[in-house]
Amino acid sequence: MTQAQLPGQPHISYRDQVLTVEGLASPELAQRFGTPLFVYSKASMLAALAAYQRGFAGRKAQICYAMKANSSLAILQLFAQAGCGFDIVSGGELARVQAAGADVSKVIFSGVGKTRAEMRLALQAGIGCFNVESEAELEVLNAVALELGTTAPVSIRVNPNVDAKTHPYISTGLKGNKFGVAHDRALATYQRAASLPGLKVVGIDCHIGSQITQVDPYLDAMDRVLDLVEAIERAGIPIHHIDFGGGLGINYNGDTPPEADALWAQLLAKLDARGFGQRQLMIEPGRSLVGNAGLCLTEVLYLKPGEQKNFCIVDAAMNDLPRPAMYEAYHAIVPVQADDTATATSYDVVGPVCESGDWLGRDRTLAVAQGDLLAVLSTGAYCMSMSSNYNTRGRLAEVLVDGDQAHLIRRRETAADTFALESLLPNG
Ligand code: PLP
Repeated sequence: MTQAQLPGQPHISYRDQVLTVEGLASPELAQRFGTPLFVYSKASMLAALAAYQRGFAGRKAQICYAMKANSSLAILQLFAQAGCGFDIVSGGELARVQAAGADVSKVIFSGVGKTRAEMRLALQAGIGCFNVESEAELEVLNAVALELGTTAPVSIRVNPNVDAKTHPYISTGLKGNKFGVAHDRALATYQRAASLPGLKVVGIDCHIGSQITQVDPYLDAMDRVLDLVEAIERAGIPIHHIDFGGGLGINYNGDTPPEADALWAQLLAKLDARGFGQRQLMIEPGRSLVGNAGLCLTEVLYLKPGEQKNFCIVDAAMNDLPRPAMYEAYHAIVPVQADDTATATSYDVVGPVCESGDWLGRDRTLAVAQGDLLAVLSTGAYCMSMSSNYNTRGRLAEVLVDGDQAHLIRRRETAADTFALESLLPNG
């Protein structure tokens, strides 16, 4: 990736050879807030959302940000104020939506393992819809709703059995995946749902995977879902909304996913052709709203030349940025201060954690010296939200840049924070 092709442009770019986020130079952010540090561009997030909003102009569509991608309160607040609802997968995520002051009626609740307690909380809060993922869950949700003397709005997540052509760990719409109700069980499941007094069928849902860079899997899934809508409505069960999930990919390593508005131009053309163009639509994008808007600033602690490999040891690690270790995922790693004249060497960029799996980038050509700052790019999604305290490392601070203002949206965890919930045994 050349400097001219940084993902997140125009909001994350080199200015006078210095990596800049909106109006702020990243070395100054590192100095002010320390490293390692997550930095997000507000304008980049809003630009990503605007592409969806353009795509849906003149349609009935609700964008529910899949907050598992990045659930920091200020980011939820930003998207709520821009009109988004939220796709949640736990009671904890519901509490975050409430803490961010967002409209709970625009929340949809996905996930294969909702507990009774989570169902109760969500019903009492008045969420918009439960995306039910199995026949067994339907029965439990019905019982919980009846106990509370209410009815649960439901949509059933159907598994369309299409290949999203992405990493197997983030592919969710195939027969072998744990998600959703099998396509050929869907009609019977809807009939059961419609017969249960504690449930009200409101929609249908599918989500086929993540980091999808092609349009065809979406078009195939849409056909399969629309076939089902026709069959379910023929059976006398009205479907108010159709939810096509999330999954649109971003540019990590020269990937070229369609823009959200271009993707939806094709999907809406299919909906129109099949007579569903005016139906209430829902989508659940996560990564594509925040991924390219974030970077992680990290300092080079040591350079360690080796016989087989050279190591560039930085202060960020797999607990902060788990995607490379989990999925062998690629994140571009670039110098914060560009210098085209310096001699570059090939390094594995690794963190301080005691695991050989603790690597952030392999075989990267970098011109670096001890004490330099690097930026790990496209870390707005599934980084902070997947991070841990492994090796008793405090989670990073997060800063949201808005023009020439930097807002600390999460302070750095101290060691004391990491064991604050623990107790010693009584002595004696
Ligand atoms: N909806 C559901 C049900 C999901 O499981 C996910 C992610 O796994 C998403 C939406 C968001 O996907 P993405 O971040 O790829 O847009």
